[in-house]
Amino acid sequence: MFRKIITISLAVAAGIAVHARELGPTSVLMPMPASVVMPSGKALSVSDAAIVRSTLPSDHRLLSVYGEIMTRHFGDGAGVDAYIGVDTTMTGSEHYRLEVDSVSLRLCGASEEALFRGLQTLDQLLWGDAVMTASGNVSPIIIDDAPAYPRRALMLDPARHFLPVDDVKRFIDVMASYKYNVLQLHLTDDEGWRVAIEGHPELTEGTDHYTASDIADLIDYAAQRYIEIVPEADIPGHTSAVLGVHPGLGCHIADSAALASAPGNGVMVCAANDSVYALYDDVIRSIASMFPSPYIHLGGDEAAIERNWALCADCRRMMSERGYTDAAQLMNDFFGRMLATVRSCGKKAILWCELDNIYMPAEKYLMEYPADVTLVTWRNGLTPKCIELAAAHGNPLLMAPGEHAYLDYPQMRGDLPEHNNWGMPVTTLRQAYAIEMPSAANVTGVMGTLWGEAINDINRAFYMAYPRAMALAEAGWTPESRRSWDSFRRRLPGALGRLMERGVSFRVPFESFDR
Ligand SMILES: [Zn+2]
Repeated sequence: MFRKIITISLAVAAGIAVHARELGPTSVLMPMPASVVMPSGKALSVSDAAIVRSTLPSDHRLLSVYGEIMTRHFGDGAGVDAYIGVDTTMTGSEHYRLEVDSVSLRLCGASEEALFRGLQTLDQLLWGDAVMTASGNVSPIIIDDAPAYPRRALMLDPARHFLPVDDVKRFIDVMASYKYNVLQLHLTDDEGWRVAIEGHPELTEGTDHYTASDIADLIDYAAQRYIEIVPEADIPGHTSAVLGVHPGLGCHIADSAALASAPGNGVMVCAANDSVYALYDDVIRSIASMFPSPYIHLGGDEAAIERNWALCADCRRMMSERGYTDAAQLMNDFFGRMLATVRSCGKKAILWCELDNIYMPAEKYLMEYPADVTLVTWRNGLTPKCIELAAAHGNPLLMAPGEHAYLDYPQMRGDLPEHNNWGMPVTTLRQAYAIEMPSAANVTGVMGTLWGEAINDINRAFYMAYPRAMALAEAGWTPESRRSWDSFRRRLPGALGRLMERGVSFRVPFESFDR
């Protein structure tokens, strides 16, 4: 009997040992780096007298970030001998190399941005290597890493439910950990106009919105984390908010007043009204001056052309002048003028990719997108066609296919959102992970979208985003040959633990584990 009990205890101990072996520097890395080598050899010792050498000035923010990481894992004043520096011989703006041996830790990057990405990896290494860290050691490792795609984006939608500046900052903080480098803000829609426009106080009067100084504050906060903020002002549909303020900018159709006061009913600004172009000339110029991003997103999605332009006397006159048979052809004229303004501001436009049908079969673009317009593929079922057309026309393409990247969709049947759910398809974590990234040169990256109809505050935004945003981060950063669902799944528990420690809401993906 005694012997038998001992045997069981040993089995339990062996079980623990197996789990302990799974802990290690790579056990919570998100996204997985391009190259990881773990040489055998003595660990690097932590001390209270560690020296940090750097090419950066001693008051540089990156050195503070490094200091915070050391303090978080080893306590006040403790650290390791280290070198942190920009290496101008390295290529690729985000390429970094992190090496730990028994003598020191060395982090080199092609740029300060690259060093920041490398620091995120270091933070995760030490979190994953908790056993070594607790004993005051860092395991030897060599990581050589750079992103597979230049743009890894998440999108927030403060137009539907306003998100205060501090909440957006918190979101930026967390996305930076997973090496995202773009945050798109969907700033205008039917439900609200959320950005102050110079010379047009009427657009934001009496509504929650970001002032010019809020925007500057957000841009600065994001820039310190090497994240670019891309502004979106959606036209010609999704414009109830602006039409509520300027009803004369809508089409002259029988029920325009009723449509304008009912969000989501698909009113559009008129294509044949010069005042529309005059207002948006101011809007685009104002946004261009506020946001340093080279891009302005102008929407272009879900335009209810048949319910607006096709019924409007002014739009119909414009059609006949141009010999058009289809009101959708006016999109070329409409965006022709809007894009001219974007170009005159020295910016490039991004548009949601729309085809001649919202389901397959679809054959061509809804309009003739000029080659300098970046498109975002988003509609369920249309992505293969959008990839094909973007390649043929030379448009840069960002991947946000609804099947994988719509983070407002429930993560499992019966899960949130509990309100404003229009019958959204389920997008499981595994399905988010399964996004296929084309290797075509015009594909610039990936974007997870958090449409805000059913996301009413930042905790809900986090819950919907994580852990699926980790899956998309890996699709955007990690080379295809190193992406693996099984590996991702093994790294999840530790990565989610880190989110919990930071007080970040997320959904436990219990269906992804063996039970
Ligand atoms: Zn019209």
